[in-house]
Amino acid sequence: MTVYSHSRIASFEKCPKQFHYRYVLKIPAEREGIEAFMGKRVHEVLERLYEFAVRGQIPSLEQVIFRYHAFWDEHYDDKRVSIVKSGTPPSFYRDLGVRCIEYYYRRFHPFDQTETLGVEEEVQFTLDDEGKYAMRGVIDRVVRGQDGAIEVHDYKTGRYIPAQKELNQDRQLALYQIGLRDRYGDDQPYRLVWHYLQRKEQRTSNRTPEQLVALRKDTMAVIDQIETAEDYPVQRNRLCDWCEYKDRCFAEHP
Ligand code: SF4
Repeated sequence: MTVYSHSRIASFEKCPKQFHYRYVLKIPAEREGIEAFMGKRVHEVLERLYEFAVRGQIPSLEQVIFRYHAFWDEHYDDKRVSIVKSGTPPSFYRDLGVRCIEYYYRRFHPFDQTETLGVEEEVQFTLDDEGKYAMRGVIDRVVRGQDGAIEVHDYKTGRYIPAQKELNQDRQLALYQIGLRDRYGDDQPYRLVWHYLQRKEQRTSNRTPEQLVALRKDTMAVIDQIETAEDYPVQRNRLCDWCEYKDRCFAEHP
């Protein structure tokens, strides 16, 4: 049985050909956009920051930035990491990551406003009662808020902030909420929280039980579509330049 993730489903919706390369043929990624590379390093360092903070050992901002640079140097490979916006040096993105971390650190230090229940927390759940539609995901941080609400926190390092209407329909964090309800029950409210680090902003959203029922149904319908797909057409889109299979795809489908 295939276990689905939000990114697996989103890949199919965005471009079935990309889904085919990534999840059917399982072709290893040939390249990675530097924006995604920087986002991963920021996530790693914030994960580590909270691992220390929950033990009462809060690192200084300088130590956190030092660790970020160490992660960057450890992973950076200029043959694999691609810069789509030509003429922009890697240092531009490296510095952007530093600014994201500085903002977050200064805003939330000493990191005790809320209770951290988990960092990079894996959730596994099914969308149906029979267990046919299995899902998994990894939550950046699970939190108990001051009002007792269970919060799903997500860090974003890109510039784009969706309109509130879009966030109110966002699938990813709402699916994670479904996963957490199995663990924490329904006795308290839930909240979805996005940190737009580059823009220094935060957004929240809530889901009603009815919305979650509809989300389960809609997501199962997309999974049915994926499972019965007979072909995987190319669907060019605005993110093709960042697609890890662009060279292969454009050569195979000129
Ligand atoms: S380059 Fe574009 S069209 Fe080709 S697989 Fe990637 S997302 Fe799809």
